[in-house]
Amino acid sequence: MRRNLYFKKVFCSLLCIAVLITSALTGVFQTRIYAQELSLEVHFVDVGQGDCIIIQLPDGKDMIVDAGDKNSQTEQKILSYIEANFSDLDFFDYAIVTHTDSDHLGCMDEVLQAYPAMTVYRPNVIASRESFTDPVLAITQDNAITDDNIKLWNDEGASIEVNDKNTIVYKEFIEQAYQPFEIDGVQHTPKVIVSDGRINQRPQGKQSQDITGQNYSITFYSPLSYSYTDVNDYSNIFILEYQGFEFFLSGDAEKHAEEQFVQEYKDQNFDIDVFKLGHHGSRTSSSSQLIELITKESKREQVYATISCGEGNKYNHPHTETLQRLRDFGFLEKNIVRTDTSSDLVFEVRKANGVYNLYYNDTVIEKKDDIFSQIEEYINKFFVDLSQGETYAIIILTVIIVGIILVVIITKNNYSKRKKN
Ligand SMILES: [Zn+2]
Repeated sequence: MRRNLYFKKVFCSLLCIAVLITSALTGVFQTRIYAQELSLEVHFVDVGQGDCIIIQLPDGKDMIVDAGDKNSQTEQKILSYIEANFSDLDFFDYAIVTHTDSDHLGCMDEVLQAYPAMTVYRPNVIASRESFTDPVLAITQDNAITDDNIKLWNDEGASIEVNDKNTIVYKEFIEQAYQPFEIDGVQHTPKVIVSDGRINQRPQGKQSQDITGQNYSITFYSPLSYSYTDVNDYSNIFILEYQGFEFFLSGDAEKHAEEQFVQEYKDQNFDIDVFKLGHHGSRTSSSSQLIELITKESKREQVYATISCGEGNKYNHPHTETLQRLRDFGFLEKNIVRTDTSSDLVFEVRKANGVYNLYYNDTVIEKKDDIFSQIEEYINKFFVDLSQGETYAIIILTVIIVGIILVVIITKNNYSKRKKN
């Protein structure tokens, strides 16, 4: 009898230890997974008539796309927005200026002074302000171009001086973009990239400018030419994708650049969830052909259309024709959101109970497919996040625990049988 009690005690203790080890392991790994993976946040900051988008990528990297117009109110707005919403931010990993208009690069100079950027994407346009030499030209004159992207744009036969912009604000941004800076006592020199979105026609040896991170990607599709007649068309057209959710951004790209995009990528399978209208909702952007290509008809009632424009702006953005076009395509009125009427627009892709959802201002707006694919995705995700060593450790520990429990049960059975005999 006493022996039987002893086995019960040993068995229960082992079971408890097994449960404790398993829960501890699960806890440790889950904490690790959540610590590694943040949510994706895309903030369309209300800067009046202009653009400013601040993005927190799922691996903690930060990006700014444009920085509103040049005035102290906008500068104050952007800097205080960063302080309030991105309190840990010391620098940007990426800064993109889509094109040379002041309503996009207005405060980038000041933003980069406060929060320098490791990598800067600049338009393929020379800052031609007198008594200032654009660093791209300086490099060219020395015959020592090291950046493949700049080199290949030039090798296409274009004179680098074809495209120039003679404004103080553009010159100040270019000047600041190349400034070395110090973070925690370490000196950094920004990597400055001249934007180039050619994918299919990429010349041999041309490096991709795309960004890939942990489960996310940023793909640049445009500019597709080295010289445009409309300065807006230099804008980067790019897609940010994370966990199957896609954001479409295009600066002020107009009809011509959109037509080029549609022609070049007509065979691609786009499935945009958040569509930022080009050029503040102007009638000359967001064409029917573009909407048709980048959004799926069956999903248009769920797609969000965002417009960045100033209240009562003199251009009457967004134009009524553009809004009507969206309605005709099946966009819902409640999903057309604007900075002039709703101020800052915040989108987030985050995981809850193993499932990724898209949120607008903290309200879930879309669920992914069916429950089975979500479970599958969750299980895959768990094992992908573990290193090989960690996976082996879990398997070995599980085998040991199960083995101990089996040995205890067998020994106990044998003892009971012997006792009966
Ligand atoms: Zn603009």
